[in-house]
Amino acid sequence: MSNLNSKKKPFYKKRFVLYSERGFLYSIEMNQITEKEHKQTSVGFISLGCPKNMVDSEKMLALIAEAGFIIDYDTESADVVVINTCGFIQPAVDEAMETISHALGKKKKGKIKKVVVAGCLSERMREKLLERFPHIDAVVCLGARDEIANVITNVLSGKAEKLYKSPADWESRIQLDSDRLLITSAHWAYLRISEGCDRNCSFCTIPSIKGKFRSKPLDAVIAEAKQLADSGIVEISVIAQDCTTWGRDLDEKEGLIKIVKELEKIEKLKWIRLMYLNPFGVSEQLIEAIAQSKKVVHYIDMPIQHINTDILKVMHRPDTKEKITALIEKIRKAIPDVVLRTTVIVGFPGETEQQFNELLDFIKQMRFDAMGCFAFWPEEGTKAAQLPSPISQKIKEQRVDKLMLAQQQIVFEKNKALKGRIIECLIDEVAADGPATGRYYGQAPHIDSLCFIKKCTEPAGSFVKAKITGFKDYDLLTEKI
Ligand code: SF4
Repeated sequence: MSNLNSKKKPFYKKRFVLYSERGFLYSIEMNQITEKEHKQTSVGFISLGCPKNMVDSEKMLALIAEAGFIIDYDTESADVVVINTCGFIQPAVDEAMETISHALGKKKKGKIKKVVVAGCLSERMREKLLERFPHIDAVVCLGARDEIANVITNVLSGKAEKLYKSPADWESRIQLDSDRLLITSAHWAYLRISEGCDRNCSFCTIPSIKGKFRSKPLDAVIAEAKQLADSGIVEISVIAQDCTTWGRDLDEKEGLIKIVKELEKIEKLKWIRLMYLNPFGVSEQLIEAIAQSKKVVHYIDMPIQHINTDILKVMHRPDTKEKITALIEKIRKAIPDVVLRTTVIVGFPGETEQQFNELLDFIKQMRFDAMGCFAFWPEEGTKAAQLPSPISQKIKEQRVDKLMLAQQQIVFEKNKALKGRIIECLIDEVAADGPATGRYYGQAPHIDSLCFIKKCTEPAGSFVKAKITGFKDYDLLTEKI
């Protein structure tokens, strides 16, 4: 690393480099920057929250880079720091607030000049965020995402405007996500197919933040997928608040199946992964489409949230224990090698020990391949936050531990049973020394376990055959064959 003040030698700084004109650009590299570039304003970017937020971050990064700002890896000393926040649940709000405080602390010390806050917390709090943190230079709401480069130019030129609200018609239109600067990887990426949600689960703030459900038009979805594939992406994770509702507002009778059929036609795409499939939206036709598909991986991410029918009712989830059980059996019959992931909430107001044990027994009986478990949080503004008989934090944590322990046992037994199996792995990272890391179809990026692949020198983004030789905790140990 050279000293920034010596004018003679070019500078050395980690940052994103745009190699060609518009379109999907990906590169994270240590690169020497020229004197001229050093004079350009550098922007550091912090992306918090869910995969949908990551898509927004990637779009904003591309807009920032195209406006001629230098994307700086180092958010501790960039000229401007943009924080794309999550805000749908208190722990995420706390994380965002900590990140904002930290950046404002750096600003106070003169390390960074400006702090811009975007994302769900901006949308949820608006003026209140500026009252809470008056030294924030700009608050950018969700619908003003594509204004990010102008916002940065404005704050640098000392413009007074601080709050960039979503336009009035924000809830009736959807922002397109083409031309992103990918931060996921060079070979897999997210494809968002809709925005918002009309399901009013009583514990969830997302509809109040993201607005009502609206599908991204089919041609826009497919154009983005083609652009991804043309830039080297071989695996796409299809995301939304609830992917099963896509097309309902567009009179697309086939719904998500239509998207699957069109994505399959994109030759360069090898794996299509469907995330966020709410049980009440998983039809027999969709199961059949997944079973018949050559590219849709046999991986189903299906949040059930609970299994006790009375709890599901107060959650405003149109499922019942019988329906969910029958659906899982139908899926496993139609797709015998399916890998099932789910998400559950424990400690919902009024949840009795008996209702919790019913969920625990169900998880032990159904043996999901992966599971996320969250303690209920009485989110301000949700119906569930008004419900009587709250469960103590201590009991909530005990129930999370019990459930995760049971799930861990199941995963270790399943991993043991996988020993000797030959799988196809997508290589994510190659290590100079030691095994490469990758995933088989049953492992989604960023949320599931990994495969460690010995004797593998193939580059990231390639597929290899590997034999499972063992496991370490949740991860699989394999050897390339
Ligand atoms: S389906 Fe329910 S939990 Fe999911 S985003 Fe919509 S309201 Fe929230």
